[in-house]
Amino acid sequence: MRPFLLLCLFLIAAEALPQSGPKKAVFVIVDGIPADVIEKQPTPSLDAIAREGGYVRAYVGGDKGTYSQTPTISAVGYNSLLTGTWVNKHNVWDNAIKAPNYHYWTLFRFFKQQYPHKTCAVFSTWLDNRTRLIGEGLPETDRLRVDYPFDGFELDTLRFPHDRNADYIHRIDEIVTDEAASRLREQAPDLSWVYLEYTDDMGHKFGDSEPFYKAVTLMDDQMGRLWKAIQYRRKTFGEDWQIIITTDHGRDAQTGRNHGGQSDRERLTWIVTNARNLNDHFRKSIPAVVDIMPTLARHLQVSLPKEQAFEIDGIPLTGRLSLTGAGVKKEGGKLTVTWKPAETEGRVKLWLATTNHFEEGRRDLYRLMDEVPVGQGQAVLDVSKLPSGFYKIVLEGRHNQLNRWIVE
Ligand SMILES: [Zn+2]
Repeated sequence: MRPFLLLCLFLIAAEALPQSGPKKAVFVIVDGIPADVIEKQPTPSLDAIAREGGYVRAYVGGDKGTYSQTPTISAVGYNSLLTGTWVNKHNVWDNAIKAPNYHYWTLFRFFKQQYPHKTCAVFSTWLDNRTRLIGEGLPETDRLRVDYPFDGFELDTLRFPHDRNADYIHRIDEIVTDEAASRLREQAPDLSWVYLEYTDDMGHKFGDSEPFYKAVTLMDDQMGRLWKAIQYRRKTFGEDWQIIITTDHGRDAQTGRNHGGQSDRERLTWIVTNARNLNDHFRKSIPAVVDIMPTLARHLQVSLPKEQAFEIDGIPLTGRLSLTGAGVKKEGGKLTVTWKPAETEGRVKLWLATTNHFEEGRRDLYRLMDEVPVGQGQAVLDVSKLPSGFYKIVLEGRHNQLNRWIVE
């Protein structure tokens, strides 16, 4: 009896313990699927992944009506995920990607800077993701290199002649998925981005209707192939894999064909992950697309240098936090800063800069305005003697930091 019991306990422990081998991460963007749609369709693969971690409704579009309001447009959302910032920083306002501000580094850049010998991959139905958002090979990104690129097929009209129903996009999504699954299985890049487009095309063409729902079903099957490759790696090599799947925007409530605006449904997205140590920011609030980058960074043990971390708008969805939910208000010469404490002990440093040289690649002078117990949840800063017009406020806790602007 006893050896059997011990064996059972051992098996339970082995199952519950996170894998301790090399850390690997994959994030996936499947285009343009509002949370209400994903929730109504059968998605057995996403469900299997969420059973290990979770599913949550999320949002894109920044802080509505404020300096960080962000269009619910594809490339804009991808870049918010990549950089952990809203459009007021990363500066990609639409799919033309005219002038990305590369001073706000993508996760790929942080990762390669810290781990030049580790590998990264992009499997994508849209070429610009690698060449313009990540900015591979550009002087502005210090000629960042992607080790396993697989994309650009939408430009190959011989192999993939364009048809009115965008079947060619589905076929490209298929080869992108299969390549991603086989690379994950064989080479296991340390950081991978998979991007699939077909769902958005069906949404634009048919709106809320069967062809769109069917595209969601096809997508779920594709996620199943990635998940299978990850399980193979975990079982065979003991690697510690994190996968995060999300979408870049919702769709309009009337037809489901459009997006770009700030309506509730256009802002309504979702996140599925197998991450095991999800925190209350994931479990008990509505996370944002910008939270994914710092979450992946935590998993991959990428440390974000302080001045760059001060710019990131997202909050990790895993592990310990000090504070969330920052607010700032200016009245007269006083700034009232508020936050929601996520721990009872520890202190918060309140930093303030009145410049934004960072966006030009230069440094801002941060003044330490106050340091208070995190449980206090609020502080009042006297700014009557400082230059006015622009304030960049950072709340630095032990486990994470938040930032807010005031633009007068
Ligand atoms: Zn999109």
